[in-house]
Amino acid sequence: MSNNTKYIFVTGGVTSSLGKGIISASLAKLLQARGYTVTIQKLDPYINVDPGTLNPYEHGECYVTDDGAETDLDLGHYERFLNVPTSQANNVTTGRIYQSVIEKERKGEFLGKTVQVIPHITDEIKNRIKLLGKTGQYQFVITEIGGTVGDIESLPYIEAVRQLKWEMGHDCMVIHLTLLPYLSTSGELKTKPTQHSVKLLLEYGVQPDVLVCRAEHAINQEIRRKIALFCNVEPNAVIEALDASTIYEVPIFMEKEKLDVIVLKKLGIESAGEPQLVKWKEFLQRLHNPKSEVKIGLIGKYVELKDSYKSIAEAFIHAGVVNNCKVKLEWIHSESLTEENIKEKMAGLKGILVAPGFGNRGIEGKISAIKYARENNVPFFGICLGMQCAVIEFARNVLGLKDAHSREMNPATSSPVIDLLEAQKNISHMGGTMRLGSYPCALEENTLAQKIYGKKETNERHRHRYEFNNEYTKSFKEAGMVLSGVNPNAGLVEIVELPKHPFFIGVQFHPEYKSTVENPHPLFVAFVKAALDN
Ligand code: GLN
Repeated sequence: MSNNTKYIFVTGGVTSSLGKGIISASLAKLLQARGYTVTIQKLDPYINVDPGTLNPYEHGECYVTDDGAETDLDLGHYERFLNVPTSQANNVTTGRIYQSVIEKERKGEFLGKTVQVIPHITDEIKNRIKLLGKTGQYQFVITEIGGTVGDIESLPYIEAVRQLKWEMGHDCMVIHLTLLPYLSTSGELKTKPTQHSVKLLLEYGVQPDVLVCRAEHAINQEIRRKIALFCNVEPNAVIEALDASTIYEVPIFMEKEKLDVIVLKKLGIESAGEPQLVKWKEFLQRLHNPKSEVKIGLIGKYVELKDSYKSIAEAFIHAGVVNNCKVKLEWIHSESLTEENIKEKMAGLKGILVAPGFGNRGIEGKISAIKYARENNVPFFGICLGMQCAVIEFARNVLGLKDAHSREMNPATSSPVIDLLEAQKNISHMGGTMRLGSYPCALEENTLAQKIYGKKETNERHRHRYEFNNEYTKSFKEAGMVLSGVNPNAGLVEIVELPKHPFFIGVQFHPEYKSTVENPHPLFVAFVKAALDN
């Protein structure tokens, strides 16, 4: 293959939520399984500079990379499928594009010129796309374009794709993901919406090379030929994407449809042999044949939208497979929990996870759940705000500091066991100013955390402003809480645990971001095991 990086664009038509992220990740997986180096990038057409300031109800979870970028949750899928870390360069929004173009304008870089969508915005988009290729690390860059073709917001991106197709010729191709709706009255899959969405792409000057068609029923040869004829693609480039029972099945579906072979051919690359998916298939085999089931409560305040806790839910799937069991998550709204009903609401749960979050809503419910877990020896795992709540609960009910709280929830508390760092106190901008990205964590000898990790130090990703207040370190230790993970440079408490309890761990970081199919996170694996043993 030539040394040029190959660029694959994935666009979407007909409707949103067809799963461009999963199709992109699945194609990437197949290419990786053929020995190629691949990365995936997401372009988001909204005007926020990053999703860090978005409520999870808008687009689901905010995913965080090692380099501290707050990104779209699709990057989580990319990492979980490929087991390769992503970075800020893998997620670009319209806000970020405009921000940098406007900054350049203010610096005088376009002096004399009228700054316009074409060429200035499209040039900036093209630069961001090519940035990953220029690192020299990847043979393939797959770029997923958010939104649906025809959206006003995504027009500059489609235009950038048109220009790149012209510039790069055979080093570049377009996959268009569409929907074939099924009409039950006539028993038919309908192709018209797909024809229309391809027409729209053609109007913008982009001829797709491959059509991946989501459908509830198999797409027969006749339909494939019809779509091919109307949309100027070869019949074998019309790919069927049926609903899968799990996202991890999609690479196998795409392998059967030979998506990788067709893509390689379009890019002028000989494809010898088959993708090596032995480990992946083993994972699926175990996923589909669990030996037992374990019910774990996920306590959060965004539980109506399961995408808000995407990485946590996926980490449980990975950890379940290691333990040969199916983790049945019970999504529990923290606002529905009170001291009075907690026993009844927690009944039957073999483990309790308290989720990350911001703000006061539902906080007392989380604290009640933790008190219940602590007193009844139910395995407990607290993540970020969940760890902070465990600290508050311990302060109130063990140390007897009745007014203990995080300063985030009660600025006037007399016992701020969770508090802002000095560095955070004068921050006025909300975007991108939290403690973000990967930090080292030294693990205390002879603690549960150290045993689980099996090493002396680890790195985990953070996204929070508040911290354990080290003024209380002595009283917590004396009362039996072990501070088993500490940032070696700043002395910040990263992990707390209760050794008298079968499994009680709170972490200030987000282990869920680092759990992948190939590398299930040890804390989730150990928590699921503790729940099974319970
Ligand atoms: N709201 C808390 C903080 O900012 C916790 C954040 C989180 O759970 N991600 O520190």
